[in-house]
Amino acid sequence: MEYDRPGNHCLKIRALRPIASGEEVVVSYVDATNPRRVRQRELQDRYFFTCECSKCLDEALVESEDIPHPLDPEDHLVTEQRAFDLLAAAQKDTSITGPIQKLKYGIHILRKIDSWSLDRQPLASLRQNLVVSLIAAGQLHHAFLHAYIQYRCVDATLYPERIHPIRLVHQWLLVSLLRRIEVSPYSREDLPHQTHNISNLSINFRRILMYVLQKLFRRVKDDQDGAFADMVRRMHWRHGGHYTSNSVSRGEFLQEADKLREPMDKVLQQELVWGDAP
Ligand SMILES: [Zn+2]
Repeated sequence: MEYDRPGNHCLKIRALRPIASGEEVVVSYVDATNPRRVRQRELQDRYFFTCECSKCLDEALVESEDIPHPLDPEDHLVTEQRAFDLLAAAQKDTSITGPIQKLKYGIHILRKIDSWSLDRQPLASLRQNLVVSLIAAGQLHHAFLHAYIQYRCVDATLYPERIHPIRLVHQWLLVSLLRRIEVSPYSREDLPHQTHNISNLSINFRRILMYVLQKLFRRVKDDQDGAFADMVRRMHWRHGGHYTSNSVSRGEFLQEADKLREPMDKVLQQELVWGDAP
């Protein structure tokens, strides 16, 4: 859902999938990517009801089987709760470095559990919040690596619809971040804190920027009058995306992606050794 141009006084709603005639249209009151017990608690606390939607009922069935869920021994649930608490504490923290410390620690405790996939909550939310906090702290290269992990390893499974608004906004953030890095490629403001140095790897950030921007542009180009689509179109135009000679093929993108594998692995490994609790 988005507000149209200022002064137009109209709201636009776009469905993520086809809607059958007569089908009930519902909205989610809480983050649907969170586990059932977290959603149920939030719905009970904020809206005073027990949700019986098909997603909740399906997941309840899995959880209530006689054998405990192999991925969820008791200590995993405790860790999960601790990570959700760290996420909430980071969102309330108004300092510059406080949220970064809390979010990194939250990621650290989840990543110690081998079976915890990158797209399993609250890991994905911790990372997305970390991207925003790192940008606020001026640690652009580090923010880029996390935004890139989100783009390559998380969003497609967490939000499978190609026009999912959260997925599009994450792509927009990645493009904006790449633009800032491209404008000041030799900015070393964040480097003293980093053990890896991606500015030494001669990565063609512009190529990655153009590729992600092209994909974003293709996803919104049919939306003729939305404000977000307008913004993407302007950015695409400004970067010469309308000239076919400036377009970046998947092969060219993967070439740059290969160079990023090493720093990305380092970021992921680092998450396993980050030490003390904030
Ligand atoms: Zn439900």
